Amino acid sequence: MSEKELEAQNPKLFRIRHSLAHIMAQAVQKLRPGTKLGFGPAIEDGFYYDFILPEPITDTDFKDIENEMKNIIKQKQEFSHEDLGIDEALKKINEMGEPYKAEYAGELIKKNNLKELRFYQNGDFVDMCEGPHVDKTDDIPHNCFKLRSVAGAYWRGDSDNEMMTRIYAWAFESKEDLMTHQRRWEEAQKRDHKKLGKELELFHIDEEVGKGLPLWLPNGTILRTELEKYMKELEYKAGFYEVATPHLTHTSLYHKTGHLPYYEEHMYPFMKIADADGHTAEEYCLKPMNCPHHHKIFSSRLRSYRELPLRLAEYGQVYRYEDHGSLSGLLRVRGMCMNDGHIYCTEEQIEEEFLSVMEMHKTLYATMGIRDYHMRFSTWDPEDPKGKNKYVNNPAAWEKSQNMILKAMEKSGLPFKEGKGEAAFYGPKIDFQFRTVTGREETASTNQLDFAVPERLNLHYKGADGGEHHPYIIHRAPAGTHERFIAFLIEHFGGAFPTWMAPVQVKVVTVSEKFNDYGEKIAKILRDDFIRAEFDNSGESLGKKVRTATKMKIPNVLVIGDNEVQNESITLRRYGIEEQKTMPFKEFHGWLKDEIKNRVLNEHVLQR
Ligand SMILES: [Zn+2]
Ligand SMILES: [Zn+2]
Repeated sequence: MSEKELEAQNPKLFRIRHSLAHIMAQAVQKLRPGTKLGFGPAIEDGFYYDFILPEPITDTDFKDIENEMKNIIKQKQEFSHEDLGIDEALKKINEMGEPYKAEYAGELIKKNNLKELRFYQNGDFVDMCEGPHVDKTDDIPHNCFKLRSVAGAYWRGDSDNEMMTRIYAWAFESKEDLMTHQRRWEEAQKRDHKKLGKELELFHIDEEVGKGLPLWLPNGTILRTELEKYMKELEYKAGFYEVATPHLTHTSLYHKTGHLPYYEEHMYPFMKIADADGHTAEEYCLKPMNCPHHHKIFSSRLRSYRELPLRLAEYGQVYRYEDHGSLSGLLRVRGMCMNDGHIYCTEEQIEEEFLSVMEMHKTLYATMGIRDYHMRFSTWDPEDPKGKNKYVNNPAAWEKSQNMILKAMEKSGLPFKEGKGEAAFYGPKIDFQFRTVTGREETASTNQLDFAVPERLNLHYKGADGGEHHPYIIHRAPAGTHERFIAFLIEHFGGAFPTWMAPVQVKVVTVSEKFNDYGEKIAKILRDDFIRAEFDNSGESLGKKVRTATKMKIPNVLVIGDNEVQNESITLRRYGIEEQKTMPFKEFHGWLKDEIKNRVLNEHVLQR
C-alpha cells in the first residue's frame, strides 16, 4: 500500500507512524552523531527509516534507541511546519547537512516543478516532509511501538547506490494492538511456508532448474495429490467432466481470444517451429491459461442445448512470467497448476451455476477449516462503459447477468462486498477473499462470467428453437493454483495437516527392538489398506523416535510395547494432544479409515 492509501485507511495511525519515524531518526542522530538520513515512510505495520551510520547498529542497540524515543515523547515537543521557497529550501537542506535529502529535493523540484518545499520540526530535529503529524510528541502512547529489525537497503532501491541501514519498527494505536500484532507475527514466522516447506520436505527450489519453478518433493506431492483427489470428487458430484490439455499451443489462439497482445508481458518468449518441409515456421507459446483449450473442447462438435450446462474441469499447468525480484517460495512462481474449470451455459442457467460454484467453495472451505472469508463482487460501471476497462458494450447483458449473480450470492448466504467498476472487460466476477495467519487479506480464487469470448471464438450451440446461440461461460477455480493454495494451507495448518492430507499419516514406534516384528506387521496392514503408515526402524530411543515424528508433525504416532503386543492393541499419540489412548489395533484401524474418508479436521491445530 502506498503512503496515501495508508493515510486514507487510518489517518490517526498514519500520523502516529509518520511522527515516530521522525522521532526514531532524531533519536538515532542523537545517539550516533553524524548519521545521515535517507527515507523514512510509514508502512503497513509501522514505519522504517534508512540511515548512513558512522558505525553499525544491531538489534542490541534497539533498547537504547527506544528509550531515547520515549524521552522525546515525554518532552511534549510540538510538531510545526513551514513552507519555504525553492532557494531558501535548498539552503536549509544544505545547512542540515543531509546530502541524500538534498539530492532527492533537487529531483522532486525538477520533476514536479515545485515552487516550495515543506519542512517539519519537533524539538531541534528538522525533516523535509509533507506530513501530516501528531500535534505534540506525547500524543503518541509511549508503549505503542517497538523496533523490529535492521536490514540493508540501497539508497532509492538502486544497487548502484550506497547501501544504507534500514531500521524497521512496529507501531500501533495502543499497546494492546502492538501486542496482538507481535503475537500474530511470531506465529506467522513459525508457520512461514518457506520455512516449513524445507523442514517438512515439501518442496525445493533449485536455481539450476530455474527461479520460480518449484520441485515438489515426495511429501509435497502427496499434498497435491490429495487436494486434487478431493477437488475431483467435488467436481464429479457437481457434474463436471475431467479433461486434459497440452502445455504448448499456437500463439494465434490467444490472438483470437483477445488476450494477446494485452497479456504478452505475462508470457514466455514465443517459439518458432519449422514444419516438416522446413519452410513454414509456426509460432507456439507456453500456455498462460487453460481457457481457450476448454473452449475448443466445447466446440469440438456442435453442441445441443440439451447438453448445457456443460462443465469441464482440469488441474491444468500454466506458465506466467513474473519478474525475478517478485518471486517468493510458492506464493509467486513462474509455472503453476490450476484448479481450472469452465461452465458453458444459457443465460437462464447462470444463477444456478454460480450458486453451485459458491457451494463448492463453501464445502472446500469447511473441509479446510477456513472460516474468515468473504466474496468480492466486481461489477461494471455503467457511467464508464468505454472507460479504462473497455467493457464489452452490452449494457443489457451486464445488468441482467449481474442481477442473476447477485441473486445467487444472496441465496448462498455468504458475506459479500461490491466493487463497482472493478470487473474485467469481458464480464462481472466474484473473488473469494480470505485472511491469512498474518492478518493479510488474499484472493484465493476468481470466478468470472464471460460473454465476450464465446463470440470471438465462435462458440455456439443449437437451441430449442433450432437456431444457433452463443453460450455464456463461467470461469472458476475454487482451489486456485496448487502453489498458492498449498502455500496458504501450510501456513493455515502450521504444517500439521489433517490425517487425510498428511504425507505420513501414521508412524509406528516401538519401546524396544523386541517389539519390532509386531510394529512392522501393523504398519504393513495399514499400508496394504492404502494408509500412509511408516515403521521407524532407526534403532533410536523411544523418546527420540517420538520427537522426530512430532517434528515432522505426523498426526498419529502409535507406540508399541509389551502390553500392546500381548493385547494386539496400540497406544495412540495424536499430534498436539497431550493425552495418549490405548485401544485394540482393529478399533484404531477402523477409526482411522473413517477419519481419512470423512476428511476430518483436527481443530486443535487450526490457526487461531
Ligand atoms: Zn513526516
Ligand atoms: Zn478460464
